[in-house]
Order: sequence, then structure tokens, then C-alpha cells
Amino acid sequence: MRDVVIIGAGIAGSSLATVLAHLGWDVLVIERNHIPSQDSSGGCLSPEAQASLIVLGLYDTVAALQPLPIEHVRLMTPGRARLNLNLPAQAWMFNRPDLDRALVQAAQAAGAEVLTGVRATAIIEADRGYTIELMGWDEGKRVRGRTAITACGRHRLYGLRPIHTENAKQTPMIALRCDYENLPLASPNTIELFVFQGGYAALTPLPLADGEHVQLWAFMQQSVLPGRSDDIRRPIKTLSQRHPALGQQLEQGRLLEESSIIHAGFPAQQPATPWNRTVRLGDAAAMLPPLCFDGMAMALRSAEICAPLVHDFLKDRRSRAQWEASYHEAWHREFDQQLEQCWRLHHSLQQPSRAALLLTLGKWMPHLAHKMVQATRGPIRSAENVTSLIPAQTASRQDL
Ligand SMILES: Cc1cc2nc3c(=O)[nH]c(=O)nc-3n(C[C@H](O)[C@H](O)[C@H](O)COP(=O)(O)OP(=O)(O)OC[C@H]3O[C@@H](n4cnc5c(N)ncnc54)[C@H](O)[C@@H]3O)c2cc1C
Repeated sequence: MRDVVIIGAGIAGSSLATVLAHLGWDVLVIERNHIPSQDSSGGCLSPEAQASLIVLGLYDTVAALQPLPIEHVRLMTPGRARLNLNLPAQAWMFNRPDLDRALVQAAQAAGAEVLTGVRATAIIEADRGYTIELMGWDEGKRVRGRTAITACGRHRLYGLRPIHTENAKQTPMIALRCDYENLPLASPNTIELFVFQGGYAALTPLPLADGEHVQLWAFMQQSVLPGRSDDIRRPIKTLSQRHPALGQQLEQGRLLEESSIIHAGFPAQQPATPWNRTVRLGDAAAMLPPLCFDGMAMALRSAEICAPLVHDFLKDRRSRAQWEASYHEAWHREFDQQLEQCWRLHHSLQQPSRAALLLTLGKWMPHLAHKMVQATRGPIRSAENVTSLIPAQTASRQDL
């Protein structure tokens, strides 16, 4: 029996695996994709995440990828109301597959085993542990673990029914992503966010080995784009009609069609579920709307909260019920307010008149804009106030 079986080698799963393997536990990670996959979107790691990276012993690994600094966000409505915001500290922009791969390699270097191309299909509570059923593994159909950790992102694990069904009727969303060559951005070190009726889209610089591209991602209600199609040009045309300034900007670049990915049926706001038979991390516990650029920070922070609790449980210093109660308490204290504010902003910005009012108010009363942004963020902790969970390793950077 393994000590820890983690489902999902994304941001949350890989980082938790790294810490637990460093602490000496026998960790197995199950990942349905081959790494790096093109499945995940968005590569802006918010400043709030940097303290978590130190705690998880991953700061140097991530900094070595030489991310692009991001210092500003520029919001724009179709009616051309604008708001320029300075970030409270520098965010980092990555090519997301590079980040995912680096985190998986860090987990492997720490001693975790990562099975890729293997899907977990069910988690069953068994005597003194869990059985995890698998598909696509040559060596068997199940593994046993003293603990099982759900870090499968927004994807539903079919063996685990969602506890909450009351929001099931919410309109699902569409997420799309594609890269552009030679697309000029309005200013350097800036994310451009275009809000429109029913959704929003972002243009972000994208650091690649062979130069800098620009990534477009969009998140919108399925009703904005009825019918199904894998042709990326159709949603781009719709985006351009909804937000002409975005359309004009896109026309200046060259779309790299092979980079495009469309996810229909993306779940919208769901009730938070930090525990359902097992602990849940990152997006598996709750999704932040992408406009907050903070989902990866939340995934890292949930791994940070969870790691000492798993460690204590495995050491028999804490029962599973105590672990669940402590995680619930810490999770809700940390994220409830942020989630509420982010989803409120997400809904407001999709309504043109409200979005224009918010942006205009923010422009003339910058302290109000600052407050509004602060409400959607977690705290920025300084490096002096955090300690690495990894033995004999001190915080790797003192000057955050
Ligand atoms: C359009 C868009 C843009 C975004 N932009 C940003 C941004 O700029 N900055 C930011 O911080 N956040 C952004 N996010 C959110 C961010 O991508 C997520 O919050 C983050 O990836 C969550 O990390 P995670 O580890 O919980 O899940 P993931 O990173 O999604 O990892 C989950 C892993 O589990 C695997 N998996 C799923 N099911 C199974 C299974 N049954 N068996 C085995 N493996 C499984 C998946 O393949 C995946 O590798 C964006 C989201 C969207 C939709």
C-alpha cells in the first residue's frame, strides 16, 4: 500500500507530491494526460503565489523558468471605458506547459512516482485507506493508498459524485485559448482584459524559447456561442463582434491555429467542496473565475495548507476526522471571501452598463479600484514570514 496517492499532476497535485516526497513518504501521482499537455489555460502566476512557492520548496524551480514580469492590467469595455491597474507586486507570466512540466519534474526529483497517461476512474474508501481504480495502466486496474488526494482540477471524477447539485442548472461556460504571432500589445508587462456581454477575453504576452508570442484566452457563457464547432475562427469572429477593439487588435497578428483549444461545457460557479470522501485541492475544491488570474495561487496555497495535515495523519498524530475538520476550517477561512468577491466581479463585468460604471468609477477614484481589486486577492506574505515545509531547506529568497 502506498502512503499517498494523488489524482492529478497539475499545479496542486505536483506541488503537494513534491513536499510529501521530501518529507519521506511514498507518493504516487496518477495523471491522465502525458506531460506537458496542451489542456490547461493561462500562465500568469499572481504575486500572492510566491510565498507558497517558498513554503513548498518550489521557488527556485519556478524562478529558473525566467518568467516575464507582469506589472499592470488594463481593462476595456466595448464602449471603450478603460481602467489601468497597477498590480500590488510583480506577477509572473509562463508558457503554461513549461510550468506544468517543471513542477512534475520537481515531484519526481523529490522521489514521487508519476504515472502519466493513466486515468483514475473511482476512489473507494476501504479498510484503513483507499482503493483507486485506474484505466490505462499496464500493471493493474487499481492501487491502494493510506491516503487519497483529489487534485484533478475542474474535471469530474466519476467515482465521486458531487455533493452539491443545487447549482447544476447554471449555464456552463466555454473556455478557449490560442496563440498569435506578431500581435502588438498596447504596453509591455501588461495583461489586456476585454469585457463584453456574456464573457471576457485576455491578451497576455507568452514567453517561448523561440521568442515572444501573444496568447488570447476567453471565458464566456455557452449562449454566446451556440452550437458546437472545433473551428477556432468561429469564436474569434464572435469575440471580435462583441468587442470591436479586440477584433481590430487580433487582425494585426497571425493566428497560430495549431495552438488553439476550445473547452465547451466548462463548469460555471459551483459550491466549494474542499472535502468529499477525500481531501480536494485547487480547482477540485473550487474554481476562481479566470479574470482574477489567481487559480494557480489558490491551487498552491491549498497544497500548502494540506501538506502538514497529511503528514500528521500519516504519522498517526491526527485522525482522518481531525484532518478533515482542520482542512475545512483553514480552507474556508482562506478562500470563502475571495471566492465570493471574484465571482461577484465576474458577473458584474459581463453586464456592459455595470462594467462601464465600475471602470469609470475606478478611473476617477483609484483608491476604490484598489479596494475592489484587493477584495478579490489573497494576502501577499513576505518571505521573512514564511518557512519552507521541506526539511533542512530555508526559504530560498529573502527579498520578496
Ligand atoms: C481560460 C482560463 C485562463 C486561466 N488563466 C489563469 C491565469 O492566468 N493564472 C492563474 O493563476 N489561473 C488561471 N486559470 C485557472 C488555472 O488554470 C487553474 O486554477 C489551475 O490550473 C488549477 O490547478 P489544479 O492543480 O487544481 O488543476 P489543473 O492544473 O487543471 O490540474 C488537474 C490535473 O488533473 C488531471 N486529471 C483530471 N482528471 C483526472 C483523472 N480522472 N485521472 C488522472 N488525472 C486527472 C488533469 O489532466 C490535470 O493535469 C485559468 C483558467 C481558465 C479556464
